[in-house]
Amino acid sequence: MNFQVNEQGYYGEFGGAFIPEMLHPNIEELRTRYLEIIYAPDFQAEMKHLLRDYVGRPTPLYFASRLSELHNTQIYLKREDLCHTGAHKINNTVGQILLAKKLGKQKIIAETGAGQHGVATATVCALMGIECIIYMGEHDIHRQKPNVERMKMLGATVVPATSGSKTLKDATNEAMRHWINHPQDTHYIIGSVVGPHPYPDMVARFHAIISEEMKVQLLEKTGRDYPDYVFACVGGGSNAMGAFYHFLDNPEVQLIGAEAEGLGISSGKSAATTQLGRSGILHGSKTLLMQTDDGQVVEPYSISAGLDYPGIGPAHAHLFASKRAQFLSVTDDEAMRAGLLLSRMEGIIPAIETAHAFALLPKMTFKPSDVIVVNLSGRGDKDLDTYIKYEW
Ligand SMILES: *Cc1c(COP(=O)(O)O)cnc(C)c1O
Repeated sequence: MNFQVNEQGYYGEFGGAFIPEMLHPNIEELRTRYLEIIYAPDFQAEMKHLLRDYVGRPTPLYFASRLSELHNTQIYLKREDLCHTGAHKINNTVGQILLAKKLGKQKIIAETGAGQHGVATATVCALMGIECIIYMGEHDIHRQKPNVERMKMLGATVVPATSGSKTLKDATNEAMRHWINHPQDTHYIIGSVVGPHPYPDMVARFHAIISEEMKVQLLEKTGRDYPDYVFACVGGGSNAMGAFYHFLDNPEVQLIGAEAEGLGISSGKSAATTQLGRSGILHGSKTLLMQTDDGQVVEPYSISAGLDYPGIGPAHAHLFASKRAQFLSVTDDEAMRAGLLLSRMEGIIPAIETAHAFALLPKMTFKPSDVIVVNLSGRGDKDLDTYIKYEW
């Protein structure tokens, strides 16, 4: 079984590039040039330098001894929360901004929901002195004020998307519209392993550093360069794909994604895409998405804004369909409790997104000798208000 993208941009039956005619030149330019640019020695050297000295890589692989004792197994945490800006997302924005420079682009646009991708994008644009425009739903702008202030502090222009439900999908539409009107000078930085080919593959490659480092760190700590299990939360799926990437072809490694169940699978307030979704087209690719019988995208819900997305990336849809990875769902309540538990047991306050991955641990049975890695995708500072106000 092949888990990499094929020549046509597909993972099994999922993927492709379903885009308006006007975007063809941009997507074609990316598709024909991304691999050659990314793997050029000067690009690799610059990216490695920035990942080390600016982002703070390699991130530690930390043996969580109290959590391990609780579950009677061996649990390691991949500390993406220690990346600059507090989550994995900057691995991708560093890569894409360097790529945009090589393509001669002078402006960056991006969409953001909770604002995490917007902050990571505004950060690298400030670093490179490149103009940055972030599209964000008007509703989200009100919900996520601190991140909006951060983006502005970093010099980005935040444009409210005022159509539809005024959230992420509307921001994505407006960003697409901007790109169609400014194809020459602008690069669009998509924030997860979603969108038309080659985005899912390109973003996966920028996050693959997560599992690349894990292999080296596991070998050092356990004498074996692969774990028995990798756990990660899945919104669009970028941190999970980075954590899975170098283990995709090793069937001894169980890959497990945590989806946001929200208030319950049949509550109408959920974002558990593999359970509720069917095949369809979302943001330029064929994938699993939550939709009504007549194909309207269903508004997703999760307490965590980063998992509040009606689809998953096409590579994950393929991992699900082929059963290479398991996708399990976690309710708001389970995630919040797991977040509190990690805070109290290891002194690490995780992002609520990340807490979903931890909530799977008590649902499984492990052997004492098992080696488990949980990808700690981000820190929870941004979520303190939600944690504090939660009705426990
Ligand atoms: C954005 C975000 C996610 C969800 O995005 P993926 O593309 O699924 O990784 C998960 N964790 C954190 C901390 C995030 O900021």
